Amino acid sequence: MVLEAPRSPLRELELPRPELEHGQVRLRVLACGVCRTDLHIRDGELHKPKLPLILGHEIVGTVLEGGRAFEPGTRVGVPWLGWTCGACRYCRTGKENLCDRARFTGYDLDGGYAEEAVADERFCFPIPESYPDAEAAPLLCAGLIGYRSLLRAGDGARIGLYGFGAAAHIVAQIARSEGRRVFAFTRPGDEPAQALALRLGSAWAGDSAARPPEELDAAIIFAPAGELVPAALRAVRKGGSVVCAGIHMSDIPRFPYELLWGERTLCSVANLTRRDGAELLDLAPRVPIRTEVEVFALGDAELALDRLRAGEIHGAAVLTVGTSTSER
Ligand SMILES: [Zn+2]
Ligand SMILES: [Zn+2]
Repeated sequence: MVLEAPRSPLRELELPRPELEHGQVRLRVLACGVCRTDLHIRDGELHKPKLPLILGHEIVGTVLEGGRAFEPGTRVGVPWLGWTCGACRYCRTGKENLCDRARFTGYDLDGGYAEEAVADERFCFPIPESYPDAEAAPLLCAGLIGYRSLLRAGDGARIGLYGFGAAAHIVAQIARSEGRRVFAFTRPGDEPAQALALRLGSAWAGDSAARPPEELDAAIIFAPAGELVPAALRAVRKGGSVVCAGIHMSDIPRFPYELLWGERTLCSVANLTRRDGAELLDLAPRVPIRTEVEVFALGDAELALDRLRAGEIHGAAVLTVGTSTSER
């Protein structure tokens, strides 16, 4: 499914198989998650995608050929971080998520809305056995960016999550397993999302404009709405943190300095490191994180994106392509 130009529907096309370069693996795609970032690219809100482009950076696939790290038939995941230079100041100091020359899957590199994909084997992760293909896919971005955001939010006991979609429904499970209390903020009146939050053990769920019943130690904003920044600052205690986890956000409205005063911290989280990936995929089966997925056929990628744009996906949307059972 190919994006030929921003703001135009993905088109089903037959493309030639790319030649493998050194260190690349060819994958048969089994499932690929649909991330809000895909929607931002599709809708022209991120300005530098390669074109034409195959979207998708939550790829679960089996290795067909290439590379040396994996036996053919091994099930692996491919995340957003697709390549780094290894030489810039960020790469050399453990911050490869900020690499000056990073290439991203489904943005600079073709991704997983396809029957096959090609990836650098150094950026592929083995997928824990216990996860079915579709349920593993959301771990690869929603899970990873959520995990990184939760680390950045600190170890406070009361965590607010603004926007209760794919990432938040995973973070809520990690936070609960650590004995923390989760406060879930959704679009006004989004009762299914609030019900999901409560089912996953949140202490409270309500509208994003509402004040939580208790002061928060930290908040993570997953929704791309700038007006949530002052709302979240208002909800956290002195010394608390507000973490912006999305790649795109509407402008943040002016707000009085007193919302930041009191040593509150406002920061963003960008991309992931391979270390984040290894840690999350080790942690996921032990929590255990259970992802709630709504499955679409590959050819229905536009429908999945439409539903995500409309706020109609509860949990994560995933495209399924093949099945792993025939491979095993
Ligand atoms: Zn670099
Ligand atoms: Zn993503």
